[in-house]
Amino acid sequence: MPPEKEMRKRILTGDRPTGRLHLGHWVGSLAARVKLQYECETIVIVADLHMLTTKRAKQDIEQLPANVRGLVLDYLASGMDPERSSIYLQSAVPQTHELHTYLQNFAKVGRLLQLPSIKEMARNAGIAGESLPLGLLGYPVLQAADILLARATLTPVGKDNLAHVEIARELARQFNSAYGPVFPEPEPLLTDTAALVGTDNRGKMSKSAGNAIFLSDDEQTVEAKVRGMFTDPKRIHANIPGNVEGNPVFVYHRLFNENRSEVLDLEERYRAGKVGDKEVKEKLARALNLFLGPFRERLAIYENKPRLLDQILWSGTLKVRRIAAETMREVRARMGLDRVWKMIRAGGMRAGESVNR
Ligand code: ATP
Ligand code: MG
Repeated sequence: MPPEKEMRKRILTGDRPTGRLHLGHWVGSLAARVKLQYECETIVIVADLHMLTTKRAKQDIEQLPANVRGLVLDYLASGMDPERSSIYLQSAVPQTHELHTYLQNFAKVGRLLQLPSIKEMARNAGIAGESLPLGLLGYPVLQAADILLARATLTPVGKDNLAHVEIARELARQFNSAYGPVFPEPEPLLTDTAALVGTDNRGKMSKSAGNAIFLSDDEQTVEAKVRGMFTDPKRIHANIPGNVEGNPVFVYHRLFNENRSEVLDLEERYRAGKVGDKEVKEKLARALNLFLGPFRERLAIYENKPRLLDQILWSGTLKVRRIAAETMREVRARMGLDRVWKMIRAGGMRAGESVNR
């Protein structure tokens, strides 16, 4: 391996295949990932095993093929380059399960029970107290298995996921001190600022809350969603001075409208009661459609080509399987498990010889 390749950081990042991606995902993670793929070796996980920790009904699994393709499509539309980012399907890399099992012996239940992220996921799934499934409690351990299997050195995460990377670091340390240095400790990289507010101003944009603008929405859909957006409720007339701060329409203008002077002018006139919501929204819809233009162009390349999507995902999966096989050979050797395997294999071969004789 050339030294510069050795020094390059390897990133592991990804999502659960539970639906299409929206502007919140762009702000929270996608924008950073698309940039990072030019600096680091990037592995992107389609985390279907993690989906099963909260969504495992037959109907959920029936939606998986469409959701997996939709996620890959959104990744490509966002500008992820399959030559730079290896996108893979978690459940199709079986070594994940094996490493997960070994790591479970180091993970502490008390520590996991205290994580706000686990509590929140349980609450969202309507699970209370004693009925917390082991799989959901172990969510961060499975995530650690993904990160360590790939021997990623950098993990871009949102604030809600920071504690999970800390757990991956702890597990790497514990494994290494028990058996020898196999895993680098993954560095977290905080990628999100505040969560993007939804179009209804009721908390963050979220696909299940009906307040999301999706990366795959067409122009008319974006226009309709922006027309229906929440603004300053005090402004029943255009001549009432309005509040810009925290107003979702202006939050989006600041983030997605590249015409800075237009944004400043709208803000000024809004504060002075000299512009109607209609104009502010029309200009926002135009800006968002401009912003989403390149996404739509890339979407058009891959849309209606499910085979191409499958091919991209399969080739990423094979690549990660090769990395995983190498990691696990080393894991088993360090643990000493490979000696047991060799012992019984040798025994089996001797028995085979005697039978043949
Ligand atoms: P659901 O409605 O099913 O919870 P969602 O739209 O909230 O879905 P998730 O799959 O929960 O999306 O989000 C995955 C990750 O994407 C989050 O951990 C976070 O980093 C990022 N993310 C999601 N929504 C936002 C948002 N509105 N602003 C910033 N980041 C977001
Ligand atoms: Mg969510």
